[in-house]
Amino acid sequence: MYSDIFDTHSHYTDHAFDEDRMDVIKNIHENGVKYIMLAVSSYEDSVQSLELSRNFDFMYCAAGIHPECADTAEGDYIQKLEKLITENRDKIKAVGEIGLDYHYEGFDREKQIEIYSRQLELANKLDLPVIIHAREATKDNLDLLKKYRPAKGVVHCFSGSAETAREIINLGLHISFTGVLTFKNAKKALEALKEVPADRLMLETDCPYMAPVPFRGKRCDSSMIAYTAEKAAEVLGCDTQELISRTCENGIKFFGI
Ligand SMILES: [Zn+2]
Repeated sequence: MYSDIFDTHSHYTDHAFDEDRMDVIKNIHENGVKYIMLAVSSYEDSVQSLELSRNFDFMYCAAGIHPECADTAEGDYIQKLEKLITENRDKIKAVGEIGLDYHYEGFDREKQIEIYSRQLELANKLDLPVIIHAREATKDNLDLLKKYRPAKGVVHCFSGSAETAREIINLGLHISFTGVLTFKNAKKALEALKEVPADRLMLETDCPYMAPVPFRGKRCDSSMIAYTAEKAAEVLGCDTQELISRTCENGIKFFGI
């Protein structure tokens, strides 16, 4: 069993945990998961995640609007997010997940860019890190990151190329990896992993999604980060517990907890 696990990106408000949420969280904490960061999808989810995080002293959360929820960003959404964050700085440690997702048909590129930009500005104003979700939008994402220059940001669930990883690192940002590293077709992501300096690397599950092999397709929870860490350690040629502890330290510094 490993200790010092920091799952830097999870979704415990997801309906997949409706039956046993509190038990799962208590159980994984007793089994080596030291800290949990909740990433969120919408303003409503930001409020729910904040409420959930208040039950556990080892749980923190983000606030923000995911590109797939861009249509929920209406009117004074930035003011609402700012108010929620400033009133709950003890628990809300990042703006996210925010970004661009051009995967599904019918997405509104302009709207996604607009709400991503406003939220990057908000994070800069509040001096908070950003959790970045980018799918099939590498160029637009890098352009916006170069324009808004977040002081601290992590590109999550990275599965891009080594070249893209280098660009992200050159912008001063962090990169985090999920169970994708254990998938059969993960060659590109494993090459990218080698480009990430030790102090810019974080691990996450993105649970309940992205369960690593041998649980692929099943409901994921933070304890499964062990499989991702084992794969990463194998590729980097280091000790798994050492890697877990180092990425935990990185997470603590990154989120300022
Ligand atoms: Zn996520």
